[in-house]
Amino acid sequence: MYLFKTKNDLNAFLETYKKEGKKIGFVPTMGALHDGHLALVTKARIECDLVVASIFVNPTQFNDPKDFEKYPVTIDQDILKLESAWTDVLFLPSVSEMYPEGINAPHQVYDFGYLETVLEGAYRPGHFQGVGMIVHKLLDLVQPTRLYMGQKDFQQCMIIRKLLEITGIPTELVIVPTKREPNGLAMSSRNTRLSPEEKALSIALYNGLNEIKQNFNQQPISELTMLVSNNLQSIGFQVDYVSIVNGETFEVLDEKIDGKMVGLIAAKIGEIRLIDNMYLN
Ligand code: AMP
Repeated sequence: MYLFKTKNDLNAFLETYKKEGKKIGFVPTMGALHDGHLALVTKARIECDLVVASIFVNPTQFNDPKDFEKYPVTIDQDILKLESAWTDVLFLPSVSEMYPEGINAPHQVYDFGYLETVLEGAYRPGHFQGVGMIVHKLLDLVQPTRLYMGQKDFQQCMIIRKLLEITGIPTELVIVPTKREPNGLAMSSRNTRLSPEEKALSIALYNGLNEIKQNFNQQPISELTMLVSNNLQSIGFQVDYVSIVNGETFEVLDEKIDGKMVGLIAAKIGEIRLIDNMYLN
């Protein structure tokens, strides 16, 4: 695997692949890699000629400075994992490489509209602007044929779909299903910060989504979401939301619709905020 730390070096390497029209698959990450990240790499490996991954803990997307400071960093293990999944290139830039003008410099503001005002958008102000900024910079640099992202961050996928639309970048977004622990807990870099007790309790997010799915035809949305929210609170979670959205438009639903619907949960246990989601039909 090639490792590049500067945009210039990565650019010089990618030039020939781009000229030859090779299919480049790109997997942006913040490191502390697990099998969920590797599922994206594996899909890119199958579908593309060249697989480029990046590891960059992007400061502009953290609305909580403590979360940024404590974000797990495991570069040596990450490199081994990426090599084991046959990644061709790792881009590992510094903050000044990605933000030469500083992280607080004026920047483009993206109009993500409604998507940025609900659920994660409402609970993490500024988060999606930071995500948009870094993904835009990385896409400009790598110019991938396909961009691989996880359904685990469903609203983020919708934001990136909108970013591609706004910018006209001709990259195809591929959304990869959520990889889970054997008990159902969605894999996440933040899980490493859970105590064994918190980790055991965190299965409740997946169980809650399953419960909504199983009772979806029998009960109204408000009852289903309230029940799961109350269950989570009763075992010690601070619940940000339990919601059901239109799987296409991301509109938060009070009533069921004919199209695809997705259940989403965000809840905090101790210091750690977890999210999960599931298609309901
Ligand atoms: P992160 O390093 O958390 O920014 O995640 C990098 C990419 O991996 C994003 O597209 C995530 O949605 C995806 N990802 C994170 N966790 C999982 C998971 N459990 N299953 C599938 N994809 C995931």
